Amino acid sequence: MNSETVQLTMDMISRASVTPDDAGCQDMMIERLRAIGFECETLVFDDVTNLWARRGEQAPVLAFAGHTDVVPPGPLDRWDSNPFEPEIRDGVLFGRGAADMKASIAAMVTACERFVAQHSDHRGSIAFLITSDEEGIAVNGTVKVIETLEARGEKIDWALVGEPSSQDQVGDVVKNGRRGSIGARLVIHGIQGHVAYPHKVDNPIHRAMPALHDLARHQWDQGNRFFPPTSLQISNINAGTGAHNVVPGHAEVLFNLRYSTEIEPKQIIETTQAILDKHELDYDIDWSISGYPFLTAEGELVQAAQDAIKTHAGLRARLETTGGTSDGRFIAPTGAQVLELGPVNESIHKVNEHVNTRELDTLSNIYQGILERLLL
Ligand SMILES: [Zn+2]
Repeated sequence: MNSETVQLTMDMISRASVTPDDAGCQDMMIERLRAIGFECETLVFDDVTNLWARRGEQAPVLAFAGHTDVVPPGPLDRWDSNPFEPEIRDGVLFGRGAADMKASIAAMVTACERFVAQHSDHRGSIAFLITSDEEGIAVNGTVKVIETLEARGEKIDWALVGEPSSQDQVGDVVKNGRRGSIGARLVIHGIQGHVAYPHKVDNPIHRAMPALHDLARHQWDQGNRFFPPTSLQISNINAGTGAHNVVPGHAEVLFNLRYSTEIEPKQIIETTQAILDKHELDYDIDWSISGYPFLTAEGELVQAAQDAIKTHAGLRARLETTGGTSDGRFIAPTGAQVLELGPVNESIHKVNEHVNTRELDTLSNIYQGILERLLL
């Protein structure tokens, strides 16, 4: 017999909810959550279906956050079983979304069911913020729901994002922040001409090299206890006509910084421009910020999560800020404490994505433990 959590995970995997299609996953959640007293609201923005569900009217609000969409399975013949027909082999559940992140969603729902059955008069509120657009461009998902909540003055105090944070065992790693990401497209202008007449050209490649060297060597900050130092990587350099004997008119450079909480985008932009100006370049630069950094250094949520993990998984959870961006970046700016805690991430986005069924039940117990620590 499968546990409630394993069964619900399997039912969700059976729905092929490839981004941005929710494929009825949120309706399954709504049915379960309504039955235990949640008010459920479906918020549709363009082709994206989002769910905001809340049980209780008082503060503080503990919100479970996550996504029902999954990445495409890739070539089906490389899977050992159909990605949308969940299968358990030797205690391991296989299917697209098993780890990222239908297991977490199911574990959150069953944790709430057990918690509410025992403590229907809990303090504060429990909420769910679920989107079907996390794996895609993420413009009509969490960010829009947060805008809606902000406009209403509805506030989240603690957000527990179910992203697969664990490394070897469920609960060994919790992400308490993420680095920011900022990119630039730099065009350095020169004067095109024949290589044989150097006095008549202005070579943008020659001008770019010492400036890029300084940029790449610059020490932006030292990082801090939670973040490694900010790093700049040049990812593309393009210049030239393809001919040996022509100096090009311009050079184009793309670079990206993953930055810590020790520096603001404004400082990054100003410092970059100062370095370029020092080299007397004629240039244009366009910046794009793809994510602000966030950090929940400490507080009730970190405490409750570490405590619950110790009790239910017997582990001392490590706090880390590594990895790419997640929807936590949209929730943290509201002032909420944000943590990411979910299953082992080793198989995510791969073929034969899987999750250990026993760890799935542990995860549900950890979520319940966090509810008990924060809302009783
Ligand atoms: Zn995910």
